[in-house]
Amino acid sequence: MKAKKITTKDETAQRKCDKCPQKSVITLAYGPHYFCEKHFVQFFENRFKKTIRKYNLFRAKEKILVALSGGKDSTVLLYLLCKFYSRLNKIEALIIDEGVKGYREKAIKCAVENCKKLGVNYKIIQFKKEFGITNDKLMPLILNNPKLGGTCAFCGTLRRNIMNKYAKTLGANKLATGHNMDDEVQSFVMNVFNNDFERMKRMSASAGVIEHSGFVKRIKPLYETPEKEIIAYCAFREIKHYSEECCPYSWTAKRNEYREMLNHFENRFPGTEFSILRFYENIKPLIRPHEKEKPLLAQKLVECRQCGEPTEKGFCKACEMIEKIKEEAKKQKGKGKSAIVSSKYNKKLTCATTKGEHI
Ligand code: SF4
Ligand SMILES: [Zn+2]
Ligand SMILES: [Zn+2]
Repeated sequence: MKAKKITTKDETAQRKCDKCPQKSVITLAYGPHYFCEKHFVQFFENRFKKTIRKYNLFRAKEKILVALSGGKDSTVLLYLLCKFYSRLNKIEALIIDEGVKGYREKAIKCAVENCKKLGVNYKIIQFKKEFGITNDKLMPLILNNPKLGGTCAFCGTLRRNIMNKYAKTLGANKLATGHNMDDEVQSFVMNVFNNDFERMKRMSASAGVIEHSGFVKRIKPLYETPEKEIIAYCAFREIKHYSEECCPYSWTAKRNEYREMLNHFENRFPGTEFSILRFYENIKPLIRPHEKEKPLLAQKLVECRQCGEPTEKGFCKACEMIEKIKEEAKKQKGKGKSAIVSSKYNKKLTCATTKGEHI
């Protein structure tokens, strides 16, 4: 189904900005708000700063490591953190190279250029060096055996392992990711559909790891920012980011179906996504684990025997997955299997609107 446009150019052009006599250049249908460029930028930046205050995401003097992919979300995140907080906070970037030929290197180039422009120190970490395997090698194995889980879930676990490990190595107090409001709402609805109450409880602007010295707290300063507005902000501020194509494995993500469904609802009934986020924030105090349980959980953690990351058992999830995939590689090599794609995937759906942002 083709999504209806929320606002036509004509509609916007007829209106004046809500804040000044200028003609509006953007309509935010959920308000509705009509803004000229200057007042949209102001509105956007104010909400960013408000989210940081509201959820107490970080304090002055803390070192923030930004997980930078080169896509729009993490690029805007880095830009805004530098713009408003670099006087009082040290800001650095972590770029992960998952090993996706023809795609990742272009996004990384863009990420590096932005770091240089903003004067931000950065570090590039490769799957290949960390785990001895690239996404290009991993993905056909997973697609051949759906029992191994989703491709993006796999990639995400490995990336989180790297992010936490290097946040500690680099002495960061917080790890900032570019998750936007659409991502969070999709996650919430996915958790409802999957009856994954535990995962839902952990959702937050300051993400859900238990308090433990082995974990660096993850924060999401774009938690209340709709994706479309990030795209508009990039255009108005001329923020260069990588958007030409998305990861060639993105079509395998179940999330695409949720994005499609929620975008459709948002277009038909503007404000739906904000309502879902507010609903979650309203029920959160009722469903969050009691504070007393946290130290108990933290006590149970040990260091992974392979990589040293905190885990409840001998090996962390990432190392377990790598072991499984190595066994799978041997099995599939023996059988001489070629990539067969499970019917559970909808090849038509891609990250058309998100373009390469998967932290
Ligand atoms: S779409 Fe994102 S999460 Fe999925 S495989 Fe590609 S980089 Fe990894
Ligand atoms: Zn204005
Ligand atoms: Zn491990």
